[in-house]
Amino acid sequence: MRGERLTREDGIRLFQCHDLAWLGALADHVRREKCGDIVYYNVNCHVNLTNICTSHCKFCAFGRDADEKGAYEMTKAQAIAVVEDAMRDPNLAGLHVVSGLHPTWSFEDYLGIVEALHERFPKLYMKGFTGVEITHFAEISGLPVEEVLRQLRDRGGLQAIAGGGAEILSDRVRGELCPNKATADEWLTVARTAHKLG
Ligand code: SF4
Repeated sequence: MRGERLTREDGIRLFQCHDLAWLGALADHVRREKCGDIVYYNVNCHVNLTNICTSHCKFCAFGRDADEKGAYEMTKAQAIAVVEDAMRDPNLAGLHVVSGLHPTWSFEDYLGIVEALHERFPKLYMKGFTGVEITHFAEISGLPVEEVLRQLRDRGGLQAIAGGGAEILSDRVRGELCPNKATADEWLTVARTAHKLG
């Protein structure tokens, strides 16, 4: 209410509060102070290059095995067609590209599609890939995470990474829910490296 930055203790108290309506009223107050009665949102197009994924996270309704009904993978041309269709909305501002951890695709396969999208739609803001995917790209390419991110930025036009894949950053819980994907430390390493690279 005073417009001050929250302390850690404030954050803990808010987290412990069960009065969602009161928390919502506080959040709405801050929003009104900043933006008045205008609400902003972003029109983006999700491009999910493939849902074939080796990770088998317990909570996932997206991932499939390669031979499972509904499994798919996109070519460059198909990914471009998805965005061309979305371009009918004149407010389209950017792309959000996330996918499964494909058992046989190389890093180059993912990068090549993103590069083709960026070449075809250079004005669209490009956000893509979670810390889980970027950890996976580093593993399959043998490149350090920083180099993977540099290539995605410099060749693929990536301006931001997606926040998914964090779920709960506790390896005990991740071991129960999603033991086959990036650990908490690996996810955080990607986030820190991406921040360092701007
Ligand atoms: S890594 Fe992602 S796509 Fe794959 S099973 Fe887990 S949540 Fe689903």
